[in-house]
Amino acid sequence: MLTVNEARERILSQFTASTTERIPLIDAASRVLAVDISANDDYPPFDNSAVDGFALRTEDTSASSSTLNVVADIPAGSAPTVTLRAGQAARIMTGAQIPQGADCVIPVEDTNFKNRSAGTVPPSMITFSQQMQAGKNIRTRGMDIRAGEIVIKQGRILKPQDLGLLATLGYTDVSVYKKARVALLSSGDELLELGAPLEPGKIRDSNSYALAAAILSADAEVIRLGVAKDTRASVTDLLDKAAQEHADLILSSAGVSVGAFDFIKEVIEANGSMDFWKVNMRPGKPLAFGSYRGIPFIGLPGNPVSAFVGFEVFVRPTLERLSGKLDGGRQTVRVRCVEEITSDGRESYLRATLHTQEGIRLATLTGHQGSGNLLSLVQADALLIIPAGVKCVPAGSEVDAILL
Ligand code: AMP
Ligand code: MG
Repeated sequence: MLTVNEARERILSQFTASTTERIPLIDAASRVLAVDISANDDYPPFDNSAVDGFALRTEDTSASSSTLNVVADIPAGSAPTVTLRAGQAARIMTGAQIPQGADCVIPVEDTNFKNRSAGTVPPSMITFSQQMQAGKNIRTRGMDIRAGEIVIKQGRILKPQDLGLLATLGYTDVSVYKKARVALLSSGDELLELGAPLEPGKIRDSNSYALAAAILSADAEVIRLGVAKDTRASVTDLLDKAAQEHADLILSSAGVSVGAFDFIKEVIEANGSMDFWKVNMRPGKPLAFGSYRGIPFIGLPGNPVSAFVGFEVFVRPTLERLSGKLDGGRQTVRVRCVEEITSDGRESYLRATLHTQEGIRLATLTGHQGSGNLLSLVQADALLIIPAGVKCVPAGSEVDAILL
């Protein structure tokens, strides 16, 4: 039987992020950048003042008192026309372009000009006592970004600050990977739509809610196809609908084990192929991978906890690969087991709560680990990973855990 890693590698090898789209910058937050972004221009685009003050020439300043004639007023957004000569200064605002001839800016606070309320006209002269250094309070052209420099790399999940930088550089739209589209179906005669009254022998279809939310949490789109009955015809019908949607992935739950009414394998093989349908893990051994009418297919187990674990272990990495993300996904951490844990030698994913003591994460199993027990998954903070071949983890030892 395939190990978890072998199965995951076999699945991932079938996927790449390929399709891209250009979208307006305003819609690009949290999307995955499909190209390296380089700067077309220097930034700042011109030398400008870092403070409200007076632009002047360092050679006109000394540690004792200097008095200069104020010959211009340069608000932000204007292009200065003056050239400062010996003994001259220009009032200048933060972000305004430095005039020719000036090589530093003295902050208004450091001068004798005390009237600083909005709307005040500049004084005809200023006095101050400071030897200035060339470049002081000037943000020079290109000091942050040089034209041609790569500023954001392909694969980055765009953050708000990235959008700010892209706007700074004039990108009105940006090339991102298309969101993966997943066609999702449940299967089983026992399943009722949410809202229908419970009947003898029936349960509610919980997987389509948990899995749809999981797909959305991986930044993919979900096409919900509902529940297939346990008949060849119904399973075929829903898989055909999934194929018509041209989804990137068909994801089903249940109907892939050895039950007398588990038709999924058979229907897949009739119009596609099955690569594998078992993985050496717990929970979630009946896990199928193949393709149906040319679309990759993953069949998760039916039990809600198994379906969820299968999603985290196989489907989330697949959606990450499809989306072109370089990072993201679930975080794995080391945790210390409070109690002894026994396992059956399969790679196991066990529900546990975590609490931190003196900087160490301590893990306690949530108790009964039945694969139908969704409540214990709800109560869990993490899935402990007990490696294949391990039958006993002594109390106090450390294991990897996926944070939920
Ligand atoms: P199966 O793989 O069809 O044998 O299903 C295994 C178990 O999972 C059975 O107890 C099913 O009732 C349960 N199950 C299957 N699909 C769902 C679902 N969508 N929601 C909740 N439980 C399910
Ligand atoms: Mg079933």
